Amino acid sequence: HVRERGSSSLRRFDADIADQLERRKQLALRVRQGVARREFVPFFQPIVSRNRNIVGAEALLRWQAPDTPGPAEFIPYMEEQGLIREVGRQMLHDVIHTAARWRRTHESFQSISINVSPVQLREEAFVSHVIQALEASDLPAGCLILEITESLYISAEKPVLDRLARLRQLGVRLALDDFGTGYSALSYLQWMPLDILKIDKSFVLKLAEEHSGRDITIVRAIIQIAQACGLAVTAEGIETPEVASIMCELGAHTLQGYHFSRPVSEDAMTSLLHTHTTPEVPFNTLTD
Ligand code: C2E
Ligand code: MG
Ligand code: MG
Ligand code: MG
Repeated sequence: HVRERGSSSLRRFDADIADQLERRKQLALRVRQGVARREFVPFFQPIVSRNRNIVGAEALLRWQAPDTPGPAEFIPYMEEQGLIREVGRQMLHDVIHTAARWRRTHESFQSISINVSPVQLREEAFVSHVIQALEASDLPAGCLILEITESLYISAEKPVLDRLARLRQLGVRLALDDFGTGYSALSYLQWMPLDILKIDKSFVLKLAEEHSGRDITIVRAIIQIAQACGLAVTAEGIETPEVASIMCELGAHTLQGYHFSRPVSEDAMTSLLHTHTTPEVPFNTLTD
């Protein structure tokens, strides 16, 4: 009896896997078509200073078509299929162009943050793509922040390390994204050239809960580590004014989250800049 039950659950398991494979194949095909149709566009989420001026933005890919998944689902497919090289390069180019315009029209706007996949970092030509994009739009390298997520795929490989070091020599700043959630959080601090540490939103979201004493301790410790390493700290996932205040007290340099704004279209970001970049009209004056 035990054996029979075993084999039937094994069959169910096989069917599940077949289902999943079919879904993956479908999605891979749709992603490929979406790229060809230019359905992937950057949205922007403001990054604010401690006194709530918009000092930058993070570009986040969105798939502009009905019933499409978010980046957490489609980016792994793009990586698997190598599509992220083409999409990422286009993204660099377009987003830097937009950021250069914002910088010309809004004095407080200092930097644009772009997520970079490990697949892109493995490309020989990645550094020259970045240089080309900066030169095409006349954006100073110091205005670009590349966000790199800890992952199993990227380790202290010599070519990747050399590329990161060269980017930094140019003046590009490097941020370690999702800090604290990865596989080797602390060891990254040992080998990676870095300027900014982004505390993962899972830690920041917890600060909104009751009895968050232990979570505050963890975040405080992360910020102390960052300071000891000479890194600036950005807190993502700020959803309430209370958490914004806590993060400022703990010493975060810049803040990002739904409390300030969700990721929005390029036009909506331009409007946000018009209304929220002067010290007279800081973000969320009413709720603070
Ligand atoms: P990430 O780089 O850590 O981006 C932050 C994510 O947190 C975004 O999710 C953003 O929408 C979300 N977020 C921001 N504020 C809040 C908040 O207050 N509360 C909550 N609950 N969430 C908040 P999104 O846009 O779904 O992106 C997911 C991930 O996909 C990104 O995480 C990034 O790793 C990746 N990604 C997005 N765009 C790109 C891209 O152009 N290239 C690459 N390589 N990866 C990208
Ligand atoms: Mg990011
Ligand atoms: Mg990330
Ligand atoms: Mg993150």
